[in-house]
Amino acid sequence: MSVAENLISIKKTLPEHVTLVAVSKTQPNEKILEAHHSGQRIFGENYVQELVDKAGLLPKDIEWHFIGHLQSNKVKYIAPFVSLIHGVDSFKLLKEINKQGQKNNRIINCLLQVHIAREETKFGLDEKELYEILNSDELKNLQHINISGLMGMASNTNNTDDIRNEFLQLKNLFHSIQNKFNANNINVTTLSMGMSSDYPLAIECGSNMVRIGSSIFGVRNYSN
Ligand SMILES: *Cc1c(COP(=O)(O)O)cnc(C)c1O
Repeated sequence: MSVAENLISIKKTLPEHVTLVAVSKTQPNEKILEAHHSGQRIFGENYVQELVDKAGLLPKDIEWHFIGHLQSNKVKYIAPFVSLIHGVDSFKLLKEINKQGQKNNRIINCLLQVHIAREETKFGLDEKELYEILNSDELKNLQHINISGLMGMASNTNNTDDIRNEFLQLKNLFHSIQNKFNANNINVTTLSMGMSSDYPLAIECGSNMVRIGSSIFGVRNYSN
């Protein structure tokens, strides 16, 4: 099936309130353009250099999301144009995003990444660290960021019960922080969870933003 056909069949299954991020990492520009032609406007990338290169060449009405692990020293390259950063997992990174947001005279939307998987390798905050950030007085000074929600990745397993439990854990956390903080830069509305293998389950568990790559574009070729 073509990219356009894949997009159409995925969109049919998505409820109205769920935003689709088309994960285009490692995919060539022609495939992204194909998705763009069929109406997709939100794309997610994992690598800073690749994102910068693509954003320079592809249509300006694309909303670029950064979904990978972001190093503080690279924030400056994407700060002028990125529309949402999904994987924020430290206060240090938040401060750097704020600094670069200020330089570019804009407010950068961020999702805090929570560690829900059992694997050690997945990045993210635990519950205590999440509350430490949200409660910190210093956060109020960061007027060039907006914390718009949470992001998480479930364990890479075939055990649906485990995945469901991890998603539900994140959903509960999401609801417990909603409307709880009256800082003007905390506006918790987005719950980003679910990828090609588990997005229907993620939506069942309350996700309102899914990040789908291979089901749209086919398998990734990392040697490209
Ligand atoms: C690559 C990636 C995805 C998409 O994965 P697929 O399995 O191809 O849908 C989603 N989220 C993150 C954080 C990723 O790195």
